[in-house]
Amino acid sequence: MKKPLIIPFFIPHAGCPFTCVYCNQWKISGKEDEIKPEEIEQYVETYLQKARSWPDRYVEIAFYGGSFTALPLEKQVRFLQAAAAQKEKGWIKGIRLSTRPDYINEDILENLLFYGVTTVELGVQSLVDEVLTKSRRGHCVHDTARATRLLRKYPLQVGYQLMLGLPGDSLASAHLTAQRTVEAKPDFVRIYPTLVLKGTTLAKWYEEDKYTPWSLDMAIQMAVSWLGVFSFYQIPVIRLGLQAVENLAVEKDLVAGPYHPAFGELVESRLLLEQIQVGIGKLQVQAGEVLTIFFQPRLYSQVVGQKKRNLLFLQEKYQFKEINLKPQEDLAEPDLEIATARQRVQIKRQDFLQRYRII
Ligand code: SF4
Repeated sequence: MKKPLIIPFFIPHAGCPFTCVYCNQWKISGKEDEIKPEEIEQYVETYLQKARSWPDRYVEIAFYGGSFTALPLEKQVRFLQAAAAQKEKGWIKGIRLSTRPDYINEDILENLLFYGVTTVELGVQSLVDEVLTKSRRGHCVHDTARATRLLRKYPLQVGYQLMLGLPGDSLASAHLTAQRTVEAKPDFVRIYPTLVLKGTTLAKWYEEDKYTPWSLDMAIQMAVSWLGVFSFYQIPVIRLGLQAVENLAVEKDLVAGPYHPAFGELVESRLLLEQIQVGIGKLQVQAGEVLTIFFQPRLYSQVVGQKKRNLLFLQEKYQFKEINLKPQEDLAEPDLEIATARQRVQIKRQDFLQRYRII
């Protein structure tokens, strides 16, 4: 199935009353950058003209920027009316938006449904109260649980946006967040490492030695674990790290933190390396043997790893004479086959993911 085509609208949250320590949205004062509801039709038309094969795809309008349902109701309605008009014309099929867990109630949801909203993404960030408090999110784990229960009463897809490495976060609390996410069963998650950006409270704390960002390696290690856990429980991870267009803005304002422009690729590639090693373990390979890895062609860059990292790691650890890569169309995407001259084993992704069972 083709990936949905999402037409994003960033609604700067001018005058947001909250003070999340990592947020630099104060820089976006609102007015001049903000898309106006009456501009949406033209924007969608232009976007679809540029996008190839959109009639074959599930097209959605997305309102991003934090807290859509915390906007004044009249403003929400104007945006929603503009989006609903595109849906009536048949140009789009879905409307998604992101918001805070403490800005969900029955009246808000009735209004979203009336205008045809299909997906709500909750800025959950962490499911540990200490982390939320230290990050000054202004809501607690209970708010997320309540919002999720309420959303489940409506025909809406529910996504969780999660962050790694917020103040007070640790490997243990991140594990707890993963476990509670699995219990909550969202329809999908997005995962972002915490970065220190110019002008934020976090940047001030960083300068004062009150906050130490996670290293890139620690963030990757935990993100691999989350990807493994959520994949095992069949909760799709639809984003790992920032999008290319967000990267540009962040690079400009980055002070510190586990930033990498291809964060998601690094994480997926490392999980695949684990899967390969499980196969190698079953073969009981000896130094000097030739190893062959069979995989779906689309996984090529993940198998090789950034700067051939996976191949170099395998070579050094197992002392192979040679590693052969064999892309094979008929393999299901995450399944692998590993072979030496003596044996060949199949490592199915779901079997491999058993190690990430947590409840
Ligand atoms: S991250 Fe926090 S401070 Fe920033 S816009 Fe969202 S709710 Fe407001």
